Amino acid sequence: MKIHEAEARELLARAGLPVPDADVATTAAGARAIAERLFAAGVPQVVIKAQVLVGGRGKAGGVKLAASAAEAETTAAAILALTIKDLPVRRVLVAPAATIVREIYLAALIDRTTRGVLVMASAAGGMEIEEVAAKDPAAIVREVAHPHGGLLPFQARRLGFGIGLRGELLKQFCLIATGLVKIARESDADLVEVNPLAVVPAPETPGGERLICLDAKVTLDDSALDRHPDLAAWRDADSEDPIDREAREQGISYIRLDGSIGCMVNGAGLAMTTLDLVTRAGGTPANFLDIGGGARADKVAAAMRIILADAGVKAILVNIFGGITRGDEVAKGLIEARAQQDRVVPMVVRIVGTNAAEAAVLLREGGFETATSLDEAAEKAVALAAAGGGK
Ligand code: GDP
Ligand code: MN
Repeated sequence: MKIHEAEARELLARAGLPVPDADVATTAAGARAIAERLFAAGVPQVVIKAQVLVGGRGKAGGVKLAASAAEAETTAAAILALTIKDLPVRRVLVAPAATIVREIYLAALIDRTTRGVLVMASAAGGMEIEEVAAKDPAAIVREVAHPHGGLLPFQARRLGFGIGLRGELLKQFCLIATGLVKIARESDADLVEVNPLAVVPAPETPGGERLICLDAKVTLDDSALDRHPDLAAWRDADSEDPIDREAREQGISYIRLDGSIGCMVNGAGLAMTTLDLVTRAGGTPANFLDIGGGARADKVAAAMRIILADAGVKAILVNIFGGITRGDEVAKGLIEARAQQDRVVPMVVRIVGTNAAEAAVLLREGGFETATSLDEAAEKAVALAAAGGGK
């Protein structure tokens, strides 16, 4: 689950990291009121930022400076009227504008290759890290945090040194890098990214500089949200893909892929196997979908809606190994779903295990194409998709 910058900043601030004060508004007048407060406190300029769950807001015109309350209001109105990468801007963040000397990239993320929390830093901040990785991979330095100790002091220093920091800035950098790893761990985040981590003038020391977190992007592990009801409350369901949302609300694990064969399976392991067998049979899976154990007819029908919402699906493979899931319930769900659906896509059904015989009768009466072995099912699905213009 992605959370907005405003909430991500809150997580950073709670961990004691240097984040400028900010407030959010849903209207231009509200943004003006925040700006007025900041100007009254002596801030010379404010920054107004679109709160949408995508990066690259700056380039899309979603991050703008304003030097007066009136300008803040018109700028906020313009930003609130934007749609960035298909997402309408519903809120803006208003904060004192920083004078940026330099931009650094810093992130802590779950890395499946090293099975740890990977910390990445680059002196080429501001731009997206994928761009840096493509253009100048050597500009990114990495450390894998200790599984129990977090980012150890020598690791933090090595990172800071690696991107050219010395003295006071290095010291601050170490605290921030260590803090990001701690946040990732304590909030079960997949990603805690600060880009830019800005080098700004430090007014208290003439000629001095300090670091502040000017942007924050946090993605939380959906499977761990039960442990964090306070963080789960930050979900912005309106920005969620409607299909992902329906899947989540139905308790269906669904991951969209880009192939043409929709797969409906019970059990995560069997679903993975099914994708492999579709691929081996020469096809491309359109999704991973696990309807879970003991699914009833209505859940099967919901899964079918979710699969069919993907226009790339040319054929569907249903693979059910009945344990607590009853084959006849699934068959009823398929019949129900077919009566509701407006798009007709060829389907092959393999149901074995509990109540498979009852299921077979229902499927035969319903005129469904069936298969007994999984290989046969995969081959049939691939042939059906190919006949329909996919593979
Ligand atoms: P993103 O484009 O969605 O990643 O949004 P960011 O929050 O990273 O903002 C994009 C860019 O706007 C940054 O890289 C900065 O160059 C600029 N920016 C953001 N906040 C400030 C600020 O307080 N002052 C100044 N001068 N520029 C800012
Ligand atoms: Mn950014």
